[in-house]
Amino acid sequence: MEGEHHRYRTVLTIAGSDGSGGAGIQADIKTIESLGCHALSTITALTAQNTLGVEKVLPVPAEFITRQIEVLLRDITIDAIKIGMLGSCEAIDAVADAVQAVTSCPTVLDTVICSSSGTPLLPQECINRFIEKLFPITTLITPNLPETARLLGMATLPESRMDTERAAEKLLKLGCSAALVKGGHMQGPLCEDLLVWSEGREWFSGERIATRNTHGTGCTLSSAIAANLALGASLPEAVGNAREYLREAMKAGASRVLGHGSGPLCH
Ligand code: PLP
Repeated sequence: MEGEHHRYRTVLTIAGSDGSGGAGIQADIKTIESLGCHALSTITALTAQNTLGVEKVLPVPAEFITRQIEVLLRDITIDAIKIGMLGSCEAIDAVADAVQAVTSCPTVLDTVICSSSGTPLLPQECINRFIEKLFPITTLITPNLPETARLLGMATLPESRMDTERAAEKLLKLGCSAALVKGGHMQGPLCEDLLVWSEGREWFSGERIATRNTHGTGCTLSSAIAANLALGASLPEAVGNAREYLREAMKAGASRVLGHGSGPLCH
């Protein structure tokens, strides 16, 4: 038997499947494994999609989501969890209950509400339940600007650093421990994300990367944060390292041609 210090770090991703290999579970597994952790996965929904968009979603029954997680928990120590697409109120309840059973493990919640092509991935009627059940049990939420506006019921997106800071403070008041508000949808030469937590705030900034292959950027970033937390990084370190990982994968994938829409990153 190996000693405890040789144990392989594990990250459980609870998310939807993307058969085109750009987003969802497939992006999560590539990211987690590239960062030196072992990827465990629980599939919440199947999607029929390609680089042009999501055509159809087939939810996995909630009892089977619970079963997938429970069977892993009985056998394997989990060092971090990433939650992605949930797709239904029943899935929110199942995941919240199962995740609560794993005490003291960092959990990153990617607030997946809608695909970039416009398909809803979480029904509007589930948003309050999503906030109430999942925000209190997660270490970090990672909304982009449209998701931030949806979560806060804002009519317009934040347009400046000051707007973003105000929105981030409001997200903390909804009950999460920390929020990374991702500014990729803002116009301008820079791509800036704001991390806020109870004791502090940090801006992360980098030049915008010119690429049409951005499918799965949110999934990749949240999984990379979870992997870094599993490896023992602090929250700001995990976010900084994950942004670097994402930026390298975006640069490496920029010249690739795959399909007719927004292609995948290169891990
Ligand atoms: N499909 C699945 C299964 C996802 O989890 C997500 C996002 O989290 C998407 C599609 C949408 O990805 P994108 O917005 O990058 O197109």
